[in-house]
Amino acid sequence: MAIYDKKSMRAEEFINDGEILETLKYAEENKNNKELINSILEKARPKLTSTGATCAGLSHREASVLLACEDPEILKKIYEIAEEIKLAFYGNRIVIFAPLYLSNYCVNGCVYCPYHAKNKTIPRKKLTQEEVKAEVIALQDMGHKRLAIEAGEDPKNNPIEYILECIKTIYSVHHKNGDIRRVNVNIAATTVENYRKLKEAGIGTYILFQETYHKESYLELHPTGPKHDYDYHTEAMDRAMQGGIDDVGLGVLFGLERYKYEFAGLLMHAEHLEAVFGVGPHTISVPRLKRASDIDPDAFDNGIDDETFAKITACIRLAVPYTGIIISTRESEEVRSKLLRLGVSQVSGGSRTSVGGYTTEERPHDTEQFDVSDQRTLDEVVRWLMENGHIPSFCTACYREGRTGDRFMALCKTGQILNCCHPNALMTLSEYIEDYASEKTKEVGYKMVEEELKRIPKDKVRAIAEDNIKAIKASNRRDFRF
Ligand code: SAM
Repeated sequence: MAIYDKKSMRAEEFINDGEILETLKYAEENKNNKELINSILEKARPKLTSTGATCAGLSHREASVLLACEDPEILKKIYEIAEEIKLAFYGNRIVIFAPLYLSNYCVNGCVYCPYHAKNKTIPRKKLTQEEVKAEVIALQDMGHKRLAIEAGEDPKNNPIEYILECIKTIYSVHHKNGDIRRVNVNIAATTVENYRKLKEAGIGTYILFQETYHKESYLELHPTGPKHDYDYHTEAMDRAMQGGIDDVGLGVLFGLERYKYEFAGLLMHAEHLEAVFGVGPHTISVPRLKRASDIDPDAFDNGIDDETFAKITACIRLAVPYTGIIISTRESEEVRSKLLRLGVSQVSGGSRTSVGGYTTEERPHDTEQFDVSDQRTLDEVVRWLMENGHIPSFCTACYREGRTGDRFMALCKTGQILNCCHPNALMTLSEYIEDYASEKTKEVGYKMVEEELKRIPKDKVRAIAEDNIKAIKASNRRDFRF
């Protein structure tokens, strides 16, 4: 039997089934242990330091106790601390991105995904470079600066060369005042050599969802194709790091397995990366299974309700305080509203989840990867965020200034991130307002920018930010950053 070792490079040792089962038992036994729970909450709370704030985070065992606890008073405290942590390290900024689907050709048999190879009802489509250009122009015209590219796994149709060519095309398009400044990549697990190529192509985060950490279920849910190999998939982030990518994004597809098991596995994965590479995941995504083509989410037994979903997200926030948490348009406006208060720091907006979806008037459904719940335009999402007190940020400065991996985390951990991210958010928001916003959004936006500028503590930084925003309004000068 494999023994738990977070420093091991073997999937069955760092995501150890025995340790997860022990954790769930421990959590169940202690879910009413008030003294222990209060000490865990105290540990999770941000502490003020001379340079800002610091947070201890929680181990997978500690966080699992909180997740198991059903006391409404404790839940209230968990939510309060989640919001405190979010505000301490990310402020009221919310980073905006959009997915770009390149190809839905796929050789895998994932039973929950409409791109699975046996699905004959879905038209297969792969963007040409001309089509990529057209999609990018459409995305730039909406105001997007940050993309997550998505593709099925198909060595013939979507080899790494195709993905690299698409990245090059995306970065080459500069339409009007637009450009895409960060391309994150969500493609299947691959080799160290290919990760190195992605790094050289200038990608931001490499994102790969584990789908489920439960090996037996994983094997059943991925019956055919290269993705069937649980170990290869689970060890992908280690290879990505070895290939030089130091921002990686984890995620679980909630609904496939029991959420408490997934939660412990996800945190163990984060602990593993921290232990081996000295830096945890850059982001964690919390997708939930959705209806799509020949996929009926009700056919899966482990769906979670909105309350449980919110609790999981808040507990992730407490456990890994410096990681960005991403929520997509799989979720409705109502759910997104709630989660934004519990630690989410990135949202997608105006998304189309079909191949070629941004260049068609009508939202196409035939090649959609999942049903989009939040169907508002980016302009509507931006205004809604501001009306709820969040600053929509189109900033991509950190990675372009080399602040990735442990350098980003160091900035975040000392609370320094607030000194440059806040003005960067306001400058990129001003670009958005000037170039793309509707009159209504413009009005709300500039009011917010004006108010928020006053909150920049350093006089010098504030003066520079104010000057840059004046230049954005008066000219076509763009892309200012600290
Ligand atoms: N093909 C790549 C892979 O296998 O990892 C990644 C791209 S796939 C387009 C992105 C993610 O969509 C998957 O990792 C999965 O978690 C999610 N997904 C698949 N089917 C879904 C569904 N029916 N509802 C919600 N999300 C889904």
